[in-house]
This record gives sequence, C-alpha cells and structure tokens, in this order.
Amino acid sequence: MKLNEIIENDKKYYMNTFGNRIPVCFTHGKGLRLWDTEDREYSDMLGGIAVNLLGHAHPALVQAIREQAEKLIHCSSLYYIESQSLLAKALVENSCADRVFFGNSGAEANEGAIKLARIYFKKKNMPQKYEVITLQNSFHGRTMATLTATGQEKFHKYFTPLVPGFKYVPLNDFAALADAVSENTCAIMLEPIQGESGVNPVSSEYVQNVVRLCREKELLLIFDEIQTGMGRTGKLFAYEHYGIEPDIFTLAKGLAGGVPIGALCAKEQVAAAFEPGDHGSTFGGNPLACSAGLAVMNAIEKDGLIENAELMGKYMKEKLDELKPKHSLINGTRGMGLMVGIQLSADKAIAIKNALFEKGMLVGSVGASVIRVLPPLIIKEAEIDSFIAALDEVLTGMEKEI
Ligand SMILES: *Cc1c(COP(=O)(O)O)cnc(C)c1O
Repeated sequence: MKLNEIIENDKKYYMNTFGNRIPVCFTHGKGLRLWDTEDREYSDMLGGIAVNLLGHAHPALVQAIREQAEKLIHCSSLYYIESQSLLAKALVENSCADRVFFGNSGAEANEGAIKLARIYFKKKNMPQKYEVITLQNSFHGRTMATLTATGQEKFHKYFTPLVPGFKYVPLNDFAALADAVSENTCAIMLEPIQGESGVNPVSSEYVQNVVRLCREKELLLIFDEIQTGMGRTGKLFAYEHYGIEPDIFTLAKGLAGGVPIGALCAKEQVAAAFEPGDHGSTFGGNPLACSAGLAVMNAIEKDGLIENAELMGKYMKEKLDELKPKHSLINGTRGMGLMVGIQLSADKAIAIKNALFEKGMLVGSVGASVIRVLPPLIIKEAEIDSFIAALDEVLTGMEKEI
C-alpha cells in the first residue's frame, strides 16, 4: 500500500488518539535498521519506546516465534504451559522475586501490582491499608487504576471519578513522602527512572530512605521496571543499581522483544496473597508470548546485552558530553545505560526530532525540551557514531538559525 492510502484509512477509521502521526509507515527492519513503504532507510534509536530490545528481525526471536506458532499459539491457563513455566523460572532465577504472573501489557502488570498490594493487607487482616503513594510526573499506564497511579493531571482530567486510594509526592523529596504516609498506606510505587516524563532518575539516597520507611511502617515497595527492566540500564533490573530488593516489581516493554507481554514479579510472602480466583488473564502468559520472552532472556545472556547496554550507554554519554561544549542547545544528559535523555536549553525537542527524522534517524521527545534515546540493546559503536554525527549536523543547522 502507498503511504497516502494508509494515512487516509487511519484518519477515517482509527480513533484519533495519536493525532497527526509522524508521516511514515515501516514495512520491515533488520537490527537497528528500518525501511518504509518508499524504501527509505532509517536507524532506530527509539526501539519502539524500549520495546525492540533485540532490534528488528533478530534471528533467535524470529525462530522462537515461528517454531511456537507452528506448534501452539494459545492455550488457556486452565492448563499447564511449558514456556510460561520456563519464563517464570528464568525471571525468578535472575531476580529477587520468587513468583511471577504474566499479563499482556505494562498497565496490566501494574494493575496486578496494585491488586496484590491491597489483597496482601486484606488477607493479613489489615483492611485499612489500601492507599498507594506514587510520584508526581510518574507514568504507570492508562487503565483506570494505573492512570490514577500516574502522577500527572493531564492523564486524569477527563476520566474522573478516579480510583480511590492514591496519593502523589514529589520525586526525591523524602520528607514529603514520610509526611504522606498514613495508617491507610499499603505501598509506595515508583519508577527507578521516570521515562515518560523526561528520563528523571530517583536518587540512591532517596531509595535507601524509602526502603527503611517501608520496613518501619510495614509498607510494600513496588518498582515499576516496565521501561528500565531487561538490561536497559546496564543491569538486568534497575533496582540492582541501588543494592535493594523491592517486594514487587513489574516488567513489560522489552520482555518479549515486541510480542505483547507484562509480568508481575513478587516475593513469596507477598505473592502468596493471590489464591485461586483472585487474579487472571485470558491471553496472559500464552505459549507464543512466553516463547518470545524466553528467546529474549536467552539472547540477553548469550549476546552479553547487559554489558553492551552499560558499555554503549557510557560511550553514548561520552560522545554527547563531547558535543556539549560545541552546542549551546545541549544543556546536559540524564539516564543510565541505554536509557538516555538529552536536556535542551530551548524548546526545540520536536524540531530536533523532526530534523533527525529527515536524516533517517528515529528518536523520541518528551515535552518541549527533552530528546529521548532508547535504542535496542544490540547497538554498536558505529551506530552511535552515526547518531552523534546526525545530531551534530542538526544542532549546527539550528544554532545558525537562532
Ligand atoms: C510504558 C510504561 C507503562 C505502560 O505500559 P503499557 O504496555 O503501555 O500499558 C507503565 N509504566 C512505565 C514505566 C512505562 O514506561
């Protein structure tokens, strides 16, 4: 199909939740490269917003999906599922969790986390503990409970009444958090690095204080690792950077390299609150998604992708730091591993993103002044060099105009 026909169809039949999208339709990819309907080539520095962990058409992932599809795509969790049991085992053996539950998306994983925190205290005969404290500018999803958990007014305003039992506190402000805790609080839920609001990390000191507070007040600590998990930050899970273990953490985006999946992971004592009938999912943990997840877990280990994320993240940061003195538009960089935010000194993020797109380079923007880079973990130095060169050219052109 021609691009203009696709756009026409979209405008006529699809709900207008994305407005004017970037005018391109990709047909296929290989590694970091993507091609569109006009056969133009792009370099994917956004990886489907941290989803395409292994890039595009990774042979091991393709093979796993093909083999599983030929055997069995779906069967109900009424029955035992081999790949589901194996992916759960792999996640438990490589994390602080003892048990896993699979859903189909990040929002669903977080929904499960909120349910688990509430049921845990109900079954401990402490029904007054139901309130979840989250951070301002967080992002936890778009279902009713997870949009309520999301500490951003713009996600709330048209959907009131919200789900009761949520409170928001500013990032890295421990005094405000300690103040917000009451006898009703059951959990504190946070992203180790806020992704959707501009790549803002929680400080190590804050996390240590939060862990101590959770212990003192008998609260559960929930880490939303939907974006930071699966090697993205240079550790398999970002909580490892802080030397702590959350009671519950959630995964989704990169977990199956692009096949929809979400995972709710928890310590035994907490997970035990879920008994038969308390939670479920039709598609969650089906053979296809879990086989894809296993292929991703294997590739992360076999191809050394955690180490690569750390090394390439450092390399990209060095290269961006080298660009900084040359370009007044770059204010600084934030993030960990291959989760990178470039803070601009002016509201030029969308213009820069568009100019990079014209050069065949895909990045994201957050608000008006942050460029977001989330490449597949298979990225190599040469691909970072091309990105840096393109950014250098775009910034040079723009600074001439100012
Ligand atoms: C993307 C994201 C979600 C929501 O995931 P969906 O799969 O879109 O429901 C939740 N939390 C974080 C931190 C995310 O980055």
